[in-house]
Amino acid sequence: MKICVIGGGIGGLAFARAAALNGADVTVLEQADAIKEVGAGLQISPNGIRVIEALGLKDEFTKNSVKGQGVSLRNYADAREVAYLDLTTLSDDQEYHFVHRADLVEVLAKGARDAGVTIRLLQKVSEISDAGSPHVVTQSGDTFHADVIVGADGVHSVARKKILGQTSPFFTHQVCWRATIPNDLHFPAQVRLYMGPKRHLVCYPLRGGELLNIVAVQERHAWADEGWHHEDDPKNLEAAFADFGNEVHALLERVEQVSLWGLFRHEVAPRWHNDYTALLGDAAHPTLPFLAQGANMALEDGWVLAKSLGENSNVAEALSQYQSKRIDRVRKVIDTASGNAWKYHLSFPPLRWLAHTGLRIVSQVSPSKLVRQFDWIYGHDVIKPD
Ligand SMILES: Cc1cc2nc3c(=O)[nH]c(=O)nc-3n(C[C@H](O)[C@H](O)[C@H](O)COP(=O)(O)OP(=O)(O)OC[C@H]3O[C@@H](n4cnc5c(N)ncnc54)[C@H](O)[C@@H]3O)c2cc1C
Repeated sequence: MKICVIGGGIGGLAFARAAALNGADVTVLEQADAIKEVGAGLQISPNGIRVIEALGLKDEFTKNSVKGQGVSLRNYADAREVAYLDLTTLSDDQEYHFVHRADLVEVLAKGARDAGVTIRLLQKVSEISDAGSPHVVTQSGDTFHADVIVGADGVHSVARKKILGQTSPFFTHQVCWRATIPNDLHFPAQVRLYMGPKRHLVCYPLRGGELLNIVAVQERHAWADEGWHHEDDPKNLEAAFADFGNEVHALLERVEQVSLWGLFRHEVAPRWHNDYTALLGDAAHPTLPFLAQGANMALEDGWVLAKSLGENSNVAEALSQYQSKRIDRVRKVIDTASGNAWKYHLSFPPLRWLAHTGLRIVSQVSPSKLVRQFDWIYGHDVIKPD
């Protein structure tokens, strides 16, 4: 089976290796001039790690990741802990890691090449066509024919347009700054999430603990800029979080370079395929990053799509089986992520006090309950035979 993948990001590369290991002839077309960093840190939860392990890449992956010990939810002004999710209480087969996106992409790209995948850079796909036989056309006019075309081309997907018609992603009224700083503050292997009115800030270590990843989210009425991520002045980030306490100030005064992202979304695509093209990852279902599941869902999609194609020689049937195995789970995860914005950003002080008190009590009385609420996400095993 000849497969052309549009997009050499997390989902595209994971799928490419899985499909090549099943015997497919796979080419990945990536628009960038290198398989490289966009953004910064990612939290990869047990459901995503399971895919990395099944791809045979776990040892490489863990060389540069940090194994997470816990998630500490804190109040913005005094950094007082509201609740703690102890990740060491996850079951033995469940690990939670923090990784630099560039490191994950590098491991997946090497894994794909080692399995025989051809990765072609500087290939921006502009069109998908079935005139004659299915093929893609790049901006420079090259064509690539394939039995299956996989749209793993992110939130501004060309493949999504082919399947669903022209739809533009909508602004979610949230922006986020992303930065990394040296970890000279010796932050432990935890996620710290500071919750404030209409804003929150997340921080965790990367690269064996050498770096700290910062994601700072703010609700905003409008996003007027062209494009969806830009370099910004670190002073703007500091100003937006000026009323956060000293712990956050210590982080933000170390930021020398920062990007600002408008967070855009589509609804989960009602249809993820036609007879020869399938969507995966953000191309099918971009999410707000408030449950840290976008990349994890892309990894799960990649595995399930490769498996469906490997098990069924009728491409249209395989693609339909793939969608039906994924769509309900993805919808539930994305709805849960969208709900977290409201919980993290409570503005009305009495309501925030009430919510934080409730969380604090659950955290003290039944700490395992806080972690167990994610069992349905982390315990999901796409590798297990049906
Ligand atoms: C602030 C923030 C924090 C996040 N944190 C987490 C987290 O902790 N955990 C988590 O699981 N997820 C997280 N996510 C989400 C995660 O980054 C995405 O969901 C994930 O990268 C999606 O993978 P993908 O393969 O679908 O798309 P991408 O990784 O975006 O890859 C798409 C690729 O397609 C290429 N491409 C696009 N168009 C074309 C074209 N026309 N031709 C050729 N190539 C093309 C792009 O260059 C890119 O390489 C976060 C997102 C944000 C914004």
